[in-house]
Amino acid sequence: MSKILDTFLNENLQGLHEQGLYNEIDAVEGANGPTIKVNGKTLINLSSNNYLGLATNEELKQVAKEAIDQYGVGAGAVRTINGTLDLHVKLEEKLAEFKGTESAISYQSGFNCNMAAISAVMDKNDAILSDQLNHASIIDGCRLSKAKIIAYNHSDMEDLRQKAKDATESGLYNKIMVITDGVFSMDGDIAKLPEIVQIAKEFDLITYVDDAHGSGVTGKGKGTVKHFGLEKEIDFQIGTLSKAIGVVGGYVAGKKNLIDWLKVRSRPFLFSTAVTPGDVAAITRALQMIMDSTELHDQLWENGNYLKAGLKKLGFNIGASETPITPCIIGDEKLTQTFSKRLVEEGVYAKAIVFPTVAKGTGRVRNMPIATHTKAMLDDALAIYERVGKELGVI
Ligand SMILES: *Cc1c(COP(=O)(O)O)cnc(C)c1O
Repeated sequence: MSKILDTFLNENLQGLHEQGLYNEIDAVEGANGPTIKVNGKTLINLSSNNYLGLATNEELKQVAKEAIDQYGVGAGAVRTINGTLDLHVKLEEKLAEFKGTESAISYQSGFNCNMAAISAVMDKNDAILSDQLNHASIIDGCRLSKAKIIAYNHSDMEDLRQKAKDATESGLYNKIMVITDGVFSMDGDIAKLPEIVQIAKEFDLITYVDDAHGSGVTGKGKGTVKHFGLEKEIDFQIGTLSKAIGVVGGYVAGKKNLIDWLKVRSRPFLFSTAVTPGDVAAITRALQMIMDSTELHDQLWENGNYLKAGLKKLGFNIGASETPITPCIIGDEKLTQTFSKRLVEEGVYAKAIVFPTVAKGTGRVRNMPIATHTKAMLDDALAIYERVGKELGVI
């Protein structure tokens, strides 16, 4: 190994360890469900994004198996060569139906969707107004486009309006986009889309909503744009297929001309192989299930509300979440890590989220209840929270 690289790695890793910022990754032994097994121990899992429990859904497993039997395990090529299976076309029709748009395009992940979509329309002569708490993949997608990135204070509509006005009046930019998470994953709050749309109309901004944590969760399962009835107003509806949808992949839903453009100009679509047949078949069925019934959605919210009420009653600071995402804000990074470690020892898998994922001094243990948790599991989790919270002086 290069000496310079070796020194760089050792010094930086040591620094992270010393500050309690090094994240140890646990291997999950078996399925990622309402409970998981780690190091041979079964734990109540409050750390997944598998909101509706679909990652282990029996019907979806069956559909994936059948697709594998019929189509094999791989798509075989990038979409433009001959990797577009009829399954992908059906999936994209289903995504458009799900999102209430003319058309849709699927990608290999939500992350790569943001790499694809932003840089396909924005360039160095443009500007992007980006919420300060936007997801890392949005930030990287913006950087890739080389557009001027103008961050606005989190969900601060006055700040957004002022910055939109300044950017417009500067005359420096050809196009201006406003980009936001639909649901902010670390706090569980919802973007103020009606206000954003209004500001966008005033200044002819391109609107881009990444609803990775909203689809399946808000809008009776159809997401945050639907929650506000703004399907016709948002230009880019982005999402992941790996969270509530339970599988893997990402997508953009929007007008036909936008999707046609992305099919010829977005690089991850053009130069990276498509999602596998088993995945695509499972995703398509999952979307149909979410459209056909709100049963899992309702169960998710019931569990979320139950856990929130329980933690609040115990005296934890659960922030201002508007969704089932339930942070327990501890503050100090090391205490947050210790808290999470003690929870795991007692039987609850709830991960510490610290800087740089959230601001310094706002370390938290984030809880993600899912539809398939039972009340007994949540009661057990609350009892453990109470024990560890008292032990460490958090409550
Ligand atoms: C999780 C997440 C992504 C990434 O999605 P993947 O499909 O896991 O790559 C993108 N954007 C937001 C807002 C997310 O929360």
